[in-house]
Amino acid sequence: MAASPEAVSGAVSDTFKESAYDPLYDPLVSKTGQGQAYAPTYWVGTAGPAPQDDGPIRADCDVDVAIIGSGFTGLATALNLAQEHGVRAVVLEANHTAWGCTSRNGGQGQNASGRLYRSQWIQRWGLETAKRLDAEIRGGFEYWKSMVAGIDCDAQPGGHLYTAHRAKKMAFLENEARVMKEVFGYDTRMLSRAELHEHYVRDMEAAGALLEPDGVGVHPLKLAFGYIRKARALGVKIHPASPVLGWETINGVHHLRTPGGVVRARRVGVATGGYTPQGLHPSLSNKIMPILSNSMVTRPLTAQEREEAGLKTTTFITDTRTLRFYYRLLPDGSMQIGSRSSVTGSDARNPRHLQLLKDGLYRKFPRLRDIPIAYSWWGWVDVSHDMMPRIAQPDPTQQIYYAFGYGGNGVSFSSHAGRRLAERIVGKGGKHWDLPIYNSPLPGHLFAPFRRLGQAMFYKYYYLRDEIF
Ligand SMILES: Cc1cc2nc3c(=O)[nH]c(=O)nc-3n(C[C@H](O)[C@H](O)[C@H](O)COP(=O)(O)OP(=O)(O)OC[C@H]3O[C@@H](n4cnc5c(N)ncnc54)[C@H](O)[C@@H]3O)c2cc1C
Repeated sequence: MAASPEAVSGAVSDTFKESAYDPLYDPLVSKTGQGQAYAPTYWVGTAGPAPQDDGPIRADCDVDVAIIGSGFTGLATALNLAQEHGVRAVVLEANHTAWGCTSRNGGQGQNASGRLYRSQWIQRWGLETAKRLDAEIRGGFEYWKSMVAGIDCDAQPGGHLYTAHRAKKMAFLENEARVMKEVFGYDTRMLSRAELHEHYVRDMEAAGALLEPDGVGVHPLKLAFGYIRKARALGVKIHPASPVLGWETINGVHHLRTPGGVVRARRVGVATGGYTPQGLHPSLSNKIMPILSNSMVTRPLTAQEREEAGLKTTTFITDTRTLRFYYRLLPDGSMQIGSRSSVTGSDARNPRHLQLLKDGLYRKFPRLRDIPIAYSWWGWVDVSHDMMPRIAQPDPTQQIYYAFGYGGNGVSFSSHAGRRLAERIVGKGGKHWDLPIYNSPLPGHLFAPFRRLGQAMFYKYYYLRDEIF
């Protein structure tokens, strides 16, 4: 049985009375929550108590920089502002700290940004720009690793295994491995099915795999709690249960209305990810496509069960499906797996979405069929319309800045994004700003109101392409 929200304890804040967790929450239609309990995730159940925060906003106040959202992005931005630029920001969070994707993901820290592969960077921007972008993202990944090294977050180094879920996907992986090695200088390696099974994992549907040496699995909520402790030690104020429900700009000052008072800010950083409510600010309207991702964790496997299932590595894994599965063995021996979920929040509890994960797990590891599922949850990923993130100031006449569009690849990239967002906010120059993830705002979408109709059709098409043709 999956854990119910009530069964999950651990990370709580004692500075406000929390409201019930809404499993059907949908950023495109729901009202922004206030002080909602955490989703019932493995991470919430195992992170221990949340660090001290500054309680909800209780009166009107004037601040220099306000950050909206306390996930990895908002926290890393505030941390960098304080550490590198001497600016003490005020972080406004609708619910508990790190309540969004940051406490719900798979903890796979990849050397990646957005949903495009490096070969697709070359196709889109040419070789020179792709190489400069690679240097930027690689530097960001190294920065994130340095943050991980300073925080107790159950880090599991070991790189990333990218498995071919069908034999015909091997050619794609071989090409990607070649590009990564020959063009970008990574020590990537192809593994045959036999090598994969013998040394890493007996994934029964995998035809082989690409092994990239970069990649660290983490306990994301312990990592986020570490960011909170560091930021508050530097004077950052973090206010949970303080949703921004209205936003007016008067004479260049941003009036952010929360239930407890208006926060008047000279500069605003927006870090609300896939949880960005419709109408938060015109510059964000229809720029982010929230996509629901599902995750579950088994109870800890015994050494014998791991042996029988052929689980020999804690290196994290993704497969080549467009609607990919991502999975890993956690430090306590539990097995985590995730993939797509429903299109709308109202359908999120439909058992067929959990069944899709179970079927995926059992196809790969038949031995795990009878192992009880201990946790199941879901969360909204922020996908941009061109599949790449942006850290931008959408209107040069307004002191509003944002970082969005990680497309399910934000565990490591969000920290780098926060570092660059902090630089944006203080107006720091740099050669990197002409790169495609910085030099334009998020693109819109001509048919934005109908995107979900298209999404449902694409899911059917991707299924046929992934499994049948
Ligand atoms: C199931 C799942 C699995 C994933 N697995 C991986 C993975 O393995 N590897 C990987 O790289 N990425 C993964 N991701 C994506 C990754 O978790 C995100 O990219 C990352 O956490 C984004 O962080 P963020 O700070 O930008 O946004 P979030 O963590 O979503 O934080 C946004 C915050 O803004 C708050 N907010 C929203 N509106 C308001 C408002 N009006 N006022 C105040 N606060 C507001 C929300 O309450 C929320 O806490 C996964 C995501 C999901 C859902």
